[in-house]
Amino acid sequence: MGLPETLGNESIRLLRALLRADTQSPPGNEIRAAEIIRDELARHDITSQLLEAGPGRVSIVARLNAVNPTARPILLMGHIDVVTVEPEKWDRDPFGGELDDDGYIWGRGALDMKCQVAGHLAVFIALMESGIALNRDVIFVAFADEEAGGAFGADWVWKNHPELIDAEYAINEGGGSPLQIADKLFYTCQAGEKGSCGLKMTVRGTPGHASVPIDGTAMQKVGEALDRIHAWQHPTVITKSVRLMLESIGNAIGGDLAVQVNDVLSQESPDWSELEKLPLPDDYKPSFKAITRNTTVPTMISGGKQLNVIPGEITVLIDCRLLPEADPDAVLAEAQRIVGDLAEMDFLYENHDIGIEADPASPFFDAIQTTMSEMIPGVSVIPTLLSGGTDAALLPGIKVYGFYPFPLTERLAVYDPLVHGHNERIHVDDQTFATEFVYRLVTSVVS
Ligand SMILES: [Zn+2]
Repeated sequence: MGLPETLGNESIRLLRALLRADTQSPPGNEIRAAEIIRDELARHDITSQLLEAGPGRVSIVARLNAVNPTARPILLMGHIDVVTVEPEKWDRDPFGGELDDDGYIWGRGALDMKCQVAGHLAVFIALMESGIALNRDVIFVAFADEEAGGAFGADWVWKNHPELIDAEYAINEGGGSPLQIADKLFYTCQAGEKGSCGLKMTVRGTPGHASVPIDGTAMQKVGEALDRIHAWQHPTVITKSVRLMLESIGNAIGGDLAVQVNDVLSQESPDWSELEKLPLPDDYKPSFKAITRNTTVPTMISGGKQLNVIPGEITVLIDCRLLPEADPDAVLAEAQRIVGDLAEMDFLYENHDIGIEADPASPFFDAIQTTMSEMIPGVSVIPTLLSGGTDAALLPGIKVYGFYPFPLTERLAVYDPLVHGHNERIHVDDQTFATEFVYRLVTSVVS
């Protein structure tokens, strides 16, 4: 099936328009981007719905209907809020949507993730114009409030209008990164993500006047408690996505590596020292370690109000990222055991974000692999978990895959620090490639 000639250019035009909408969260004002999308759809006689969860906190959804559907819908999902900027640290206007002479489109959200929203929108419109007879509905949605947790975006839409977005499969942010191992090229596809919870560690000790040193202070205890938390060795857990990822790498490369992978996977809970020896790229290893265990990272500390007063209480907050099947209560109990009577551990919030994992062996995942091989012969797509979180976890029942691939070039190393950093930008060739991928993928699964 041929690609619509204007697809790449439309995707670039839409991206630049979306970047000109200042949707920094807080406060959000996603209505600005939602209205641009609504108007673009209206120009093609496609009706859409704006869903307002709070003042200016608007998500937008639209649907192309199959005449006689034989399968459940496909959802093209993304978010139109962006994180804040420090404009004085940028070389160009973060809300200018400028295209420079080297082919970079500048703006907050160029990578995370107005690029993909624009790509989805261009594909959605092109699909309607193509006149292809759909065998399933295709839904476009752009959510507000992803960066701050989704209460005014995906979570609100799912709880109030689930029928508008319910789908069998969804394509989302979070994957599509190339990984070069030996002479083989792999692309990671996010098939799941970790959950999270917050722990609050309260350390109490003897207060007093700082002019007289005493033992048993909260300051002394918090040092030791933090050492213990940092030394905590969480056991390795290989989830189904990571298992399939390693198996796929082993099979693609073969030889000694396949033997090494099989050996590691045959163990119940392989030690990190063994996982670390797998020939994954060095810059991927911290992420790989994070997706094969729960993590507990202290991030905030408070205590003490005056220089000359030994505080009686110090509080430390710990960010926990939990594997999809992990039990938050068990992690809390283990944290308490580890700090012993040095401190008291509690949950910071009552609610915990539970991790999710879509089946990494599905027809949709296969379609992602097939489409990628058409564009880059010999490439292998491998499932993975995301160590962080996206809107995917807020849509239970939808199998969400994170994938928006760019070709392997030196540009990718440039992009890494730009997400949530200064001077965020994307090259037009990457935007065009990824948009074409989405078009090929979607047409392959709807007809
Ligand atoms: Zn994002």
